[in-house]
Amino acid sequence: MRNTLLPYGRQSIGEDDIQSVVDVLRSDWLTTGPKVGEFEEAFAAWVGAKYAVSFSSGTAALHGAVFAAGLKPGDEAITSPLTFAATANCVLYQGATPVFADVSADTLNLDPEKVAARITPRTRAVLPVDYAGHPADLDAILELAARHGMVVIEDACHALGAEYRGRRTGSIADMTVFSFHPVKHLATGEGGMVTTDRADCAEALRRFRNHGISSDARQRQTDGQWRYEMVLLGFNYRLTDIACALGLSQLKKLDANLSRRRQIAARYAAAFRDLAGVMPPAVRPDVNPAWHLYPIRLNLEELSADRAQVFRALRAENIGVNVHYIPVHRHPYYRDRFGYRGGEYPIAEDAYERLISLPMFHGMTDEDVGDVVRAVCKVIGHYAR
Ligand SMILES: *Cc1c(COP(=O)(O)O)cnc(C)c1O
Repeated sequence: MRNTLLPYGRQSIGEDDIQSVVDVLRSDWLTTGPKVGEFEEAFAAWVGAKYAVSFSSGTAALHGAVFAAGLKPGDEAITSPLTFAATANCVLYQGATPVFADVSADTLNLDPEKVAARITPRTRAVLPVDYAGHPADLDAILELAARHGMVVIEDACHALGAEYRGRRTGSIADMTVFSFHPVKHLATGEGGMVTTDRADCAEALRRFRNHGISSDARQRQTDGQWRYEMVLLGFNYRLTDIACALGLSQLKKLDANLSRRRQIAARYAAAFRDLAGVMPPAVRPDVNPAWHLYPIRLNLEELSADRAQVFRALRAENIGVNVHYIPVHRHPYYRDRFGYRGGEYPIAEDAYERLISLPMFHGMTDEDVGDVVRAVCKVIGHYAR
């Protein structure tokens, strides 16, 4: 057994990352300086989008995207119940109503048929989530959106670097949102990004993250101007030059980090193939997932234990397992505000009872992966019927 806890996710920071932050600390700009634009341009180029607009977190980026989509009170937006609460919360921030649709049993991503059934004349947007890093069923969702005049905001916070039918996430939906939280593929501490090909969205996003002001401080300093105009009600959601310098440095290693995550996923898949008690995550043939998480589902029918017991047993082996996610509509805030009682989204709710996220991060060593495989085989073997 390991003698230290292996977390389910963590950042990797090298001397090159540290040096890039030190350099910016010695420079003239700690925020709203040259690193912001450099990071945004490099990121847009990497995913294959025309524009990238940085934000102070993935949640702020989601808020910006919902604003840029024009959502307002009375409007509805459809999303997955099996996500981090921020995906639905951002709809509430703009006074609109999040509506959930159940997920597909294989990928646990939004099921386009269930989405279609929830569309009303008030539906203005759909927010597919690329659960665990496996892209959502984007073509089917985009087709529905085109037919019903909905904006597609893809929550790709799990899926930086994932490929869907040969294209990278970030270049497909109207707007795509990423997070740079330390457990994600690229870490800036806190941080987020929206990518888009739409100039109108990029403009709205830039204003929204800067108080609704139509030019930035550096632009004014360069132009020798004092005048600025606040044209809409925005926020201070800017990402600092310190964070953007770190982001630029991390971006250089993204390809290598993605290959490492894919190697780890392949090792897990091979190790668990014949383990009747667990179901490894499904991969559809038209995608290449980015593997933010590695969520296995327990075949409870084959086990004499429930998820909580398996979870505790893995923790006792010093494997830092986690659960993603408690379905959003089961949280007290959503229950109380919208009257959910449970049972509304049976596929997501059944998955929740079985899910355990195994450690998955690019800094894992081969020994770490071996420790996880051994612990899972031991615990599942122990509880096998
Ligand atoms: C991480 C995450 C977010 C929010 O990102 P923060 O940067 O932590 O605000 C939103 N949605 C999903 C699915 C996430 O995993």
